[in-house]
Amino acid sequence: MGRLGNFENIKNRQTIHTSNSYSVLDVEIDTDFHEACSSGLCDATEMEIPLFKYSEIPDFLQGNPYVVSGYRVSLPFNLCLKSIFKWNNETVNVWSHLGGFFIFLYLLLHDNIIYIPRFSGSYTDHVMVSLGLICYQFCMLCSAGFHMFACHSEKASKRWLAVDLAGISIGVIGCYLPAVHYAFYCLSIWRDIYLITITILTVTTMVIQLHPRYFSHRWSKWRIAIYMGLAGYGIIPTIHWIWLNGASSEIVQLFVPKVTTIYILGMIALVLYLSKFPERFYPGVFDFIGSSHQLWHIIVVCAFVFWHYAGQEILSASHIFDWVWSDIPVPVPGPGEALVKVIRAGICNTDLEIIKGYAGFQGIVGHEFIGKVEKVNPESEEGAWIGRRVAGEINVFCNVCDICKGDDYVRKRNHCPDRTVMGIVNKNGTYAEYLTLPLQNLFQIPENVTDLQACFVEPLAAACRIVEQGLVSTGEKVAIVGDGKLGLLIAEVMAQEDCHVTIFGRHWEKMNLCPEKITKVLSDGSEELINKYRDYFDVVVEVTGNMGGLMLTAEITRPLGTVVLKTTCASGGTEFNTSPFVVKEIKLIGSRCGPFANAIQFLKDGKINVDKLITKVYPFKEAINAIEHAGKKGTLKIQLKMD
Ligand SMILES: [Zn+2]
Ligand SMILES: [Zn+2]
Ligand SMILES: [Zn+2]
Repeated sequence: MGRLGNFENIKNRQTIHTSNSYSVLDVEIDTDFHEACSSGLCDATEMEIPLFKYSEIPDFLQGNPYVVSGYRVSLPFNLCLKSIFKWNNETVNVWSHLGGFFIFLYLLLHDNIIYIPRFSGSYTDHVMVSLGLICYQFCMLCSAGFHMFACHSEKASKRWLAVDLAGISIGVIGCYLPAVHYAFYCLSIWRDIYLITITILTVTTMVIQLHPRYFSHRWSKWRIAIYMGLAGYGIIPTIHWIWLNGASSEIVQLFVPKVTTIYILGMIALVLYLSKFPERFYPGVFDFIGSSHQLWHIIVVCAFVFWHYAGQEILSASHIFDWVWSDIPVPVPGPGEALVKVIRAGICNTDLEIIKGYAGFQGIVGHEFIGKVEKVNPESEEGAWIGRRVAGEINVFCNVCDICKGDDYVRKRNHCPDRTVMGIVNKNGTYAEYLTLPLQNLFQIPENVTDLQACFVEPLAAACRIVEQGLVSTGEKVAIVGDGKLGLLIAEVMAQEDCHVTIFGRHWEKMNLCPEKITKVLSDGSEELINKYRDYFDVVVEVTGNMGGLMLTAEITRPLGTVVLKTTCASGGTEFNTSPFVVKEIKLIGSRCGPFANAIQFLKDGKINVDKLITKVYPFKEAINAIEHAGKKGTLKIQLKMD
């Protein structure tokens, strides 16, 4: 109220001024005062902010001689702040990026509250989208701060320039983070490599700033080169990504024009910045509105907004048109085949490896399922199968090679040289609404076995393979090294064979899922542990897939004992030391896919409880989240429910 009174007072005095030629306040200042007041920040005595010409300003404020007037010089901080409500040559610079800040703040709230939940995005979606927007906001605030306060003093100008430049680095990394995360979603190694290099590059640009001459005019070209390098680096992951996806793929077609646009925007902004266009040709005309730096600011905001929406499009594309579920025609069952509608599919570690590119498989991933026979090839006269709930043996043998002509079923199943393997070798898998399999591969699931349980038939059969191979006998001491899903299943199957079973693992919470009669040992790799079990077991099953696990098996197997290898993608690291195997004359044997019938029998009789191995069941439309979840440490079985 006091202010309003004050203001009215001056207005009255101005009225006096116009009617009686009594000079109290200059009309021009009064107008400014009026504007400042209406925006809520005013103090009559402090609003006189003098503006200077380029020729009058100190060295540290010089830089663009084509902006001739409108300079603020050596203002105290509170006046710097207030000057944003008064026309000067930085007003648009400040407001363009304050406005940008509010735009990205709004997008941050909108995306987290409305947009991401709409397609039930994951926790990671929230983090990645937010990170990008927070980086943009940080960049905007740094820049607005610089343009507000640089005129305070030479020291402040240097300090704020450092902040402004750091803000640019952060803004650039904000462009990279979500883009790299989603582009290399399924290739976590490359994703990590790029994220790490980008972070290192960004930190480097910030460290270079510490050089005492960095902010001198002479270094300005180098400064620009550094930021161009930081932004230009993005071309490398882009080309890599195009190469990985194929130039003609839908996602590349969608995204490449956007990458091109952002670089073109960047180039335009840079050319304006460097050429000081348009004020170069009309010095003084664009002092307050339209100078190159202001255009640069506006283009930066537009580029960030554009990139944010481009990212959103890719994000929603990956969620709506799942890359595991594009619309393809329902497959037609070939001779001897059935068309199966998938009810549920399990996600196996092998699937995750295949998604990362292991084995070079192209097609629909997935090999654990329960389904319902919907059609059979009419020539097969096996119509009775229609409507049955089935699990399916994943190896499809050729029926014509020498092995297949013989009568060793197991040899055909596992070792036909021309076999295809569902979801792994040349045959589409289970992450789809439909699949086809030969009738000879199908096994009917008994009524009392649930869909959830039936999905475990394939991995349980793999556990039963050790028995089928005749590698264990009743009463033998058997160790399982590794407490993942398969390790737990093997431990239970071995216990069913009346072996004395010990499981070595790193997680009590997983091992404790095993029945009481199975001994659990926390495997810490200590000498003490190895000494305790040295040469102790008749049979040791290796399920860790790493060299450390394999070398532990060698220590704890008795001489003339057996080591069974159950994992296919052993990641090396240390070299394989054959000596304990040779010295102790250990039999080393591989073991892969097993008998479905035995696995189904275990489930039917309720002898093995697989329900406890479920971590979470996802609807099929959230397959991406499900796969991501399956890859997390500590996760047991993730299933997809079709519906
Ligand atoms: Zn700026
Ligand atoms: Zn599997
Ligand atoms: Zn064959």
